[in-house]
Amino acid sequence: MTHVDLHCHSNRSDGLLAPSDVVRRAAARGVTLLALTDHDALDGLAEAAQTARELGMRFVNGVEVSATWRGKTVHVVGLDIDPHEATLATGLARVRSGRTRRAEAMARSLAAAGIPDSLEGALRHAANVTMIGRTHFARHLVSVGAVASPSEAFRRYLVPGKPGYVPHDWASLREAVGWICGAGGRAVLAHPGRYALSAGALRDLLEDFRAAGGRALEVATSSHSRDQFHQFGALAQAFGFLASRGSDFHAPGEGADFGALPAFAAPVAAIWDALRI
Ligand code: AMP
Ligand code: MN
Ligand code: MN
Ligand code: MN
Repeated sequence: MTHVDLHCHSNRSDGLLAPSDVVRRAAARGVTLLALTDHDALDGLAEAAQTARELGMRFVNGVEVSATWRGKTVHVVGLDIDPHEATLATGLARVRSGRTRRAEAMARSLAAAGIPDSLEGALRHAANVTMIGRTHFARHLVSVGAVASPSEAFRRYLVPGKPGYVPHDWASLREAVGWICGAGGRAVLAHPGRYALSAGALRDLLEDFRAAGGRALEVATSSHSRDQFHQFGALAQAFGFLASRGSDFHAPGEGADFGALPAFAAPVAAIWDALRI
């Protein structure tokens, strides 16, 4: 089970490595079934799939869609999607254009807080400029010495209530799940333990997600504690969801890496057994 990783990022969104290097790193760390799930972007999939073929690794086309539910940002991973399906591609293009407008507003807000020219700076850290996001601003703030680390950049500037944070409306939850299902994929609610919801609101989210066509919960993720593996394994069982797992790797030395997630014994079926690959 530890060889399955269904959530990671390349430089087509806010990861640091090219798609082929993400696949090579995963393989070197023992992953044998991998999904690349860049935020709101599909353009790394062909390169990643090609490298996986060369290495004899099983590969799943994935994406992580930014969505808004009751004013909160939630992430929906799509697995085994058709990257050429038009409605998904058009929907993601709309989400990316919202990213550009948001980044401009973030830069104005940071300038008012005494940090000029941050949009130009953040763009220098983005290999795919249409996918500009908070991680690129964080890397810029580190490189100009405004903060010592990306996590300090988030803490001081990039989270709600801080000067660089701009509230944003992404796709609706129903749209995100609908696009994924329409492209033949399975929708997985990413890192559900990260949303700081009351128990009641979390149940509402899971019900809305299931009603929209959601099929699985990410149970094992670097965002969750061991206790949360059990909590979300039990919730998946109670709601009839499959379980997924993934590192959420972004960059060497930045957060989680491949091959480090512990195995978990969830009382539910694994989504990778349901994939067609
Ligand atoms: P965005 O989609 O532009 O709002 O950026 C979200 C991304 O920022 C996430 O996918 C993570 O990669 C990163 N992120 C969010 N919160 C933090 C944090 N506290 N520390 C480091 N990275 C974070
Ligand atoms: Mn990210
Ligand atoms: Mn996420
Ligand atoms: Mn992610």
